[in-house]
Amino acid sequence: MRVFNFSAGPAVLPESVLRQAAAEMLDWHGSGMSVMEMSHRGKEFISIADKAEADLRVLLAIPANYKVLFLQGGAIAENAIIPMNLLAGRSAADYINTGEWSKKSIKEAKKYCAVNVAASAEDKDFTYVPARDTWKLGSDAAYVHVCTNETIGGVEYQWTPDTGDVPLVADMSSHILSREIDVAKYGVIYGGAQKNIGPAGLTLVIVRGELLDRALPITPSAFHWKEQAAADSMLNTPATYAIYIAGLVFEWLLAQGGVAAIERKNIAKSALLYDYLDQSSFYANPVRKEDRSRMNVPFKLRNATLDEAFLKGAKEAGMVQLKGHRAVGGMRASIYNAMPVEGVRTLVEYMTAFERRHG
Ligand SMILES: *Cc1c(COP(=O)(O)O)cnc(C)c1O
Repeated sequence: MRVFNFSAGPAVLPESVLRQAAAEMLDWHGSGMSVMEMSHRGKEFISIADKAEADLRVLLAIPANYKVLFLQGGAIAENAIIPMNLLAGRSAADYINTGEWSKKSIKEAKKYCAVNVAASAEDKDFTYVPARDTWKLGSDAAYVHVCTNETIGGVEYQWTPDTGDVPLVADMSSHILSREIDVAKYGVIYGGAQKNIGPAGLTLVIVRGELLDRALPITPSAFHWKEQAAADSMLNTPATYAIYIAGLVFEWLLAQGGVAAIERKNIAKSALLYDYLDQSSFYANPVRKEDRSRMNVPFKLRNATLDEAFLKGAKEAGMVQLKGHRAVGGMRASIYNAMPVEGVRTLVEYMTAFERRHG
């Protein structure tokens, strides 16, 4: 029996995608092979990768002057790869600190350049996004880095920062494809696939073409965006099976009506949970209302001694991975695109019953 899986990542995938992958496991489209067994240079796999990229371009309306790269190493590797690819001729970058993932990006970037933390939400325990007019951007920054959805803190940008001529670089690992975005407002968008796209092992990078000439000479070839773009992301062997599953997820999203349609569902799903939390005095979410994440909903039981009983009961009712990140404690429900609304309803019903019993 399948559970409702609220994991922050690797995370739930659409059941129809898993079923299709299972049906195609031994023989993909009459090739007599599993996708895992294919040469990445063969026509079958090239067709899979090309279709995945084409569908992603439609889903996000990616302009033609942007390159789409399917790399490896995850978002944490990109934290180093980004400065290496953008710092030629510069020695500083601006970072906005909205929580745990921003902090990780900042720490890594400091190995490569002077980091100016242009704004930080640390004063209020990372429960909000600092308003654009409070940012103190440097005068010589190679780029401005933001994490547009803080997976651990549950804080999400509901607006797109304007950084003028300085390229905006966004870690969108945990909310890419959950909402419409204007790609043209970003220099670089990146993310690990295992939250909202597919299996771990695949890293997505969307980069404006004119930024491909800014890499430091020390940049490893496998992580050199321009070299990878010239090689169609096949300078090294890409994560072939992960790309295939991502492609199936893109097809599923298109069949759902695309990103605008899934965004409407995500608004409704997250509202179910936040509305319940807000009327309850038994549970609490600390994030400022305007900045709450639609993907990751952290909450605490006011009486933390009930945490274990809450998690145990949830598991018995078919809901798993609700324990909050160790950095913040409490609970966290990650409700990515593939989480059906029934999963959120089941959770709210369980929370209601638990509150009645223990409140
Ligand atoms: C999960 C996550 C990461 C880390 O990704 P890895 O694939 O482990 O490198 C980075 N940033 C954000 C916002 C995340 O949610």
